[in-house]
Amino acid sequence: MSDLTPAPLPADVDLAILGAGPAGCSAASWLAQLGHRVALIERGDQPCAALQSLRFPQHWVLGEPGESLAALGQRYAAQVRGQTGVHLVVGQQAVQLDWLSGEGWQLRLDDGRLLRCRALMLATGLRPLLPGSLYPRPAQARVLDSIALATQRSQLPRGRTLLLGAGDNAAENALFLHEQGHQVTLWSRGDWRAQQALVERIHALAPAIALRLHTPVPTQVVADAQGVSVHSSSHGHERFDHVAVLLGFEPEPSAWLLVGDALQRAGISAPSQPLRDEARFAQLGLFVAGDASARQHPCVQTALGDGVVAAKRVQEWLQPPRENQAPPALRRNNRQVIHISGLRFGANLGLLDFEREGPQPIQVDAEINLGAQMIVSRDADIGHVLDYRRIRSIIIEECTAEHTDLLEAMLGKLCTRLMKLAGVVGVRIKVTKLEIFPDCQVAISAECGQW
Ligand SMILES: Cc1cc2nc3c(=O)[nH]c(=O)nc-3n(C[C@H](O)[C@H](O)[C@H](O)COP(=O)(O)OP(=O)(O)OC[C@H]3O[C@@H](n4cnc5c(N)ncnc54)[C@H](O)[C@@H]3O)c2cc1C
Repeated sequence: MSDLTPAPLPADVDLAILGAGPAGCSAASWLAQLGHRVALIERGDQPCAALQSLRFPQHWVLGEPGESLAALGQRYAAQVRGQTGVHLVVGQQAVQLDWLSGEGWQLRLDDGRLLRCRALMLATGLRPLLPGSLYPRPAQARVLDSIALATQRSQLPRGRTLLLGAGDNAAENALFLHEQGHQVTLWSRGDWRAQQALVERIHALAPAIALRLHTPVPTQVVADAQGVSVHSSSHGHERFDHVAVLLGFEPEPSAWLLVGDALQRAGISAPSQPLRDEARFAQLGLFVAGDASARQHPCVQTALGDGVVAAKRVQEWLQPPRENQAPPALRRNNRQVIHISGLRFGANLGLLDFEREGPQPIQVDAEINLGAQMIVSRDADIGHVLDYRRIRSIIIEECTAEHTDLLEAMLGKLCTRLMKLAGVVGVRIKVTKLEIFPDCQVAISAECGQW
């Protein structure tokens, strides 16, 4: 039977997992071995579809040095295909989800089949961040995202290659393409976000690898058959042979949007994306695993491990409550908020002429909602909690990285960045211009996420 032949699917299972990457496969395998019936639903044509373009040897997965992620993905797929208790469905995704109150979830698949499950898990991974001004749509052959670059980079004809971004992905590709004989330019609006070891290797090669850090990114990228025209305020019009947009990733939204719709219809406020507030949503039988959770550094090993963590949570949830056991809401009602008050520093902010001459003093006050937390034990270390020093330095970094015209835009940047921190479910932030007028201060505040 080919992977795309509709697999027999029972009408109901204990858990339906959307997304059969390493996290989904790992969770499915664990729960099946624990005796549960699992439907594993993958919209690609095979499990671990997202790994199939990653054919280069990698050395990160312990015990598998030199093995490609594509080959590892084939092994994960083979295991779940043969696993009793896992009902694998490929080439399908849910087109509608309904939350059936105490009775779990109902999924309608592309081909019209209905499936009921007591618990639902999103293991749908990430997708590349591709702003419209930098990544023309429909996609053009010479403007690549990270996945297209990974697939094509060994065969890419040598030429002028522009990499937009300064994270690990951009740095690693800059070194690789330079070794292949490309003239590489690496361009970012901010500073390095890549590992120090990669940064040092690139600096040792500069100016052979041209670096444009702290430089406003292009305002227009247009490809034609011969190359790519790039326009920017700093460098005018330039031509490159290829441009790769490597600005990071965001959680794949497809399944999460369906969850949001289902909960809205049930009168429940939807979880924020990425879905992290497990105490609240686990009570609905809603779980998340792997990169989609933004709980950990995204890689295959953490995805496999996080699949197990999520599987154990599902197992606990599926068990009937023991006598005298407090419901989860009571065990986890310890909401925690980090407060940063009166943080003062200079920031390049404002539209007025005198505001463009240099930094002006501002004050930032922030509240970071960590949601319901387990009570931290006396011996817990800083690695288990969100370090407030990190929040302080992120605020300063976001406000000082570049000139920002509008206070509202600065608030937006702060909210977006802080909401991405693992465990953060809500942000309240206030930015005050301390010396804008002789007789008063001006402030704007914003609130996002859950409060
Ligand atoms: C270019 C690149 C290079 C990388 N290199 C490495 C490396 O060298 N080493 C390393 O360890 N990691 C690497 N990674 C990261 C690694 O691939 C991921 O961290 C890992 O695959 C995450 O596993 P996951 O199961 O959470 O998500 P994914 O592997 O992304 O799996 C998610 C699955 O969900 C499916 N899906 C999405 N939406 C739906 C839906 N609505 N319904 C049904 N199915 C859906 C997708 O098709 C996909 O199969 C790389 C990633 C990229 C993009």
